[in-house]
Amino acid sequence: MSSEKPFILVSNDDGIYSNGIKALAEVAAEFGEVMIVAPDRQQSAVGHAVTIETPLRANATKVAGKFDGLAVNGTPADCVKLAHDQLLKGRKPDLVLSGVNHGSNAGINILYSGTVSAATEGTVLGYPSIAVSCTDYDESADLTGTMEAARRVIKFVLDNKPPKGVTFNVNAPSGDYKGIKWARMADSRYVEEYEARKDPFNRPYYWLTGKFELLDDSNDADIYLLNQGYAAVTPIQYDLTDYSLLKDIAEKEL
Ligand code: MN
Repeated sequence: MSSEKPFILVSNDDGIYSNGIKALAEVAAEFGEVMIVAPDRQQSAVGHAVTIETPLRANATKVAGKFDGLAVNGTPADCVKLAHDQLLKGRKPDLVLSGVNHGSNAGINILYSGTVSAATEGTVLGYPSIAVSCTDYDESADLTGTMEAARRVIKFVLDNKPPKGVTFNVNAPSGDYKGIKWARMADSRYVEEYEARKDPFNRPYYWLTGKFELLDDSNDADIYLLNQGYAAVTPIQYDLTDYSLLKDIAEKEL
């Protein structure tokens, strides 16, 4: 860490008024100066969506009564892009944090997660970035262990400049945890079960009630470790190329 205080941008997908973002801002403040730019409402599972057809506005607010915040009527990725391009007025964050999300972002959840996408957008823009989630969906979940996991990974990322293109995805159980381990993303999926209903005009509508299916129980996978009571940290990348397959098929003609 340099002698100058790091400047830390904090975002999330549960909205700027969630408990999780307050917890993460508290941890961030132990390391440096905090600025919060986050959605003005719940934006879970919007993935990496960006707003293109409506104007974005950023309204000043205070988070936990002490952190400067800007509430944006957009997605998590919008928040980080807008912060970088306009709202930080040319200041470059030393770190982008997203979370604490209320709910797991392990396994396939990574793909749907607005929390992870805010951090990934930070990575795309060239900043070291960390997404932090607690497996407990309850807004009043005990985030003590998740905050400690975040503290450790923030320290690691500030001390060891991570390679370009990598985002750190942190998940922890509520309450205390057994330990913190490096992990890979568990193979998993949702068995998409929509409930078909009828509205008062007898038109059908559908409600997503998908069940989570774990396809991978190896002991280095994030969900396995979380189920054992550990916090899990997965380095992820936005370059989705399958390099091993590309190497093999590059010799084949199209
Ligand atoms: Mn969320």
